[in-house]
Amino acid sequence: MARQPKKTVIAIDGPAGSGKSTVSKLIAKRLGLLYIDTGAMYRALTLKAIRLGVDLEDEGGLVELARSTDVELGYKYGKQVVLLDGEDVAGLIRTADLTNKVKYIARVPGVRHEMVRMQRRMGEKSGAVMEGRDITTVVFPDADYKFYLDADPEERAHRRFKELKESGSPITLEEINKDVIARDESDMKRSVGALKVADDAIVIDTTDLSVDGVVDEIMNKISQV
Ligand code: C5P
Repeated sequence: MARQPKKTVIAIDGPAGSGKSTVSKLIAKRLGLLYIDTGAMYRALTLKAIRLGVDLEDEGGLVELARSTDVELGYKYGKQVVLLDGEDVAGLIRTADLTNKVKYIARVPGVRHEMVRMQRRMGEKSGAVMEGRDITTVVFPDADYKFYLDADPEERAHRRFKELKESGSPITLEEINKDVIARDESDMKRSVGALKVADDAIVIDTTDLSVDGVVDEIMNKISQV
């Protein structure tokens, strides 16, 4: 039997507010690939831990939780669906409180091991545009294309502020500024799956670029897909 051709994986990493999600979705649409938002998986698991009252400092308990949890991502009528053990929690995982608690989950090696396993399975099955913090370095270091999106912290905070304001959140720009800096710190300094630029990743500074500008730049690089 002929071997199945290898599926295309486009890996995109970067800090919060660098434009990864918006751009990855558009690239996936253009190329007809699945879009996988790995941050949503860490967020969904955090929601489950909070709901069950699991101690966020108890690494063993969190690993146990990750092993017994199923997170699936999909799209329905153009909207993201995040299935946490079968329940769509997409509308519940973006609150400021939950966002601040993801770091307790994301720093646990055993939890990341489970997440990476699920992410590899999804990407290998159908190919994907997958975005997160450790996709180019840990999940798919051999991805067909690897990008690192970055932007100045003030610009990233501004983008988040605009997004959250549009969704009716009372949060201030000052609070978001603090959150962006704190998240950079915990994402870049954890001992496993830390956010860093892979040696062979293409780095794009999105500070002064429009969304279309970033998409065009990425599409130029992957024109041969
Ligand atoms: O991408 P998003 O901001 O939704 O991710 C939420 C959090 O999940 C990040 O701040 C990070 O701590 C964690 N995360 C991670 N590894 C990934 C994706 C997200 O640790 N691959």
